[in-house]
Amino acid sequence: MKKLFGVLGNPIGHSMSPVMHNDLFSLYDINAIYLPFQVKEEDLSDAVIGLRAIGAGGFNVTVPHKSKIIPFLDEVDELAASIGAVNTVVNRDGKLIGFNTDGLGFLKGLNEIVPKIEGKRILVIGAGGAARAIFFTLAKESPIQMDIANRTVEKAARLIEECPYSISSKALTIEEAGSNLGHYDLVIQTTMIGMAPKITEQPLSLKNLNPHSVICDIIYNPLETSLLREARERGAKVQNGIDMFVYQGALAFEKWTGISPDIQRMKENVLGQLGGK
Ligand code: NAP
Repeated sequence: MKKLFGVLGNPIGHSMSPVMHNDLFSLYDINAIYLPFQVKEEDLSDAVIGLRAIGAGGFNVTVPHKSKIIPFLDEVDELAASIGAVNTVVNRDGKLIGFNTDGLGFLKGLNEIVPKIEGKRILVIGAGGAARAIFFTLAKESPIQMDIANRTVEKAARLIEECPYSISSKALTIEEAGSNLGHYDLVIQTTMIGMAPKITEQPLSLKNLNPHSVICDIIYNPLETSLLREARERGAKVQNGIDMFVYQGALAFEKWTGISPDIQRMKENVLGQLGGK
C-alpha cells in the first residue's frame, strides 16, 4: 500500500517540498506520495488526528505551525524541544515524534563552504524560529563568539538566555551590529527582509563588512537577495537559503526512510522549481 507523507502549512501553495520528496521516492523506488496540506490553525489538531488515523509515515510542518504542533505530538526530541519548534514528524509504530532539522540542515549546507565553526566570530541577524534553530545548533560547534542582532532586541536577549549551550554572546540592535560588522567571520541573515516581493529591502548596511567574511542569507526566493548581492560585490563569500532548505529536507527524508538522499539531485530539482541553475 502507498505510504502517505506531506507538509502542513498555511499558505502552502508555493512549497517546493512535494516535488523534491516525490522525486526521491521515485528515485529510490519507494511506494509513497508526499502532498501539501493547507491547514488553518484551528484545524491543526484534527489534521494531526487524521494523519495518525490513516497511518501517514510522517510529515513536515511549516509556517505558521512549527511551534503550535508540539502539544499534538507524542514525543519531541531534545533539540526540537529546546528550540520550541518542530519541522519534521516521524510516525514510529503509531507514535508521532517531532524533530527540528532546520538548524542541522543549515550547518550541513554551511559546512560546504565553512568546514569548521570552532573559533569563528558569528553574527546572527534575526531572533525568530529559524534563528533559534541555527543559533542552538551552531552553539554546539564552539564558535568563539556568536552575537544576535534583532529589531526587537529583548527577543535576541531571551534567545541567548534560553540557549542550552553556554557561549559568549551579546544581544545587539541592528545599528550596533552594522557598526561592528568588520568584527565577524560569518554573518547569517535569518529575517524575511529581502524576500520576494520586497526584494530591494536589506536588514542592515554592509559598509563595514569585512570582505574576508562569509555571508549567508537563509532566504531562497530570490536566489540572490539584495544583501547577498552587495556582499558579493564587496568581495565576501556568499550562500543563499537553498542549501539549508535541501539539507533540512534530506535529514527529514533520512528519518522517514533510512536513506541518505542524493543532495546534488535535490538541489538541481529545487533550483529548477525556482527557475535558477
Ligand atoms: P519568524 O519566527 O517569524 O521570525 C522573523 C524574524 O524576522 C524576527 O527576527 C523578526 O524580528 C524579523 N523581522 C520580520 N519583519 C521585520 C522587519 N520588517 N524589520 C526587521 N525585522 C523583521 O520567522 P522564521 O520562521 O524565523 O523565518 C524567517 C525567514 O527564514 C523567512 O524568510 C523564511 O522563509 C526563512 N526560512 C528559510 C529556511 C530554509 O530552509 N532556507 C527555513 C526556515 C525559514 P522581530 O523579532 O523584531 O519581530
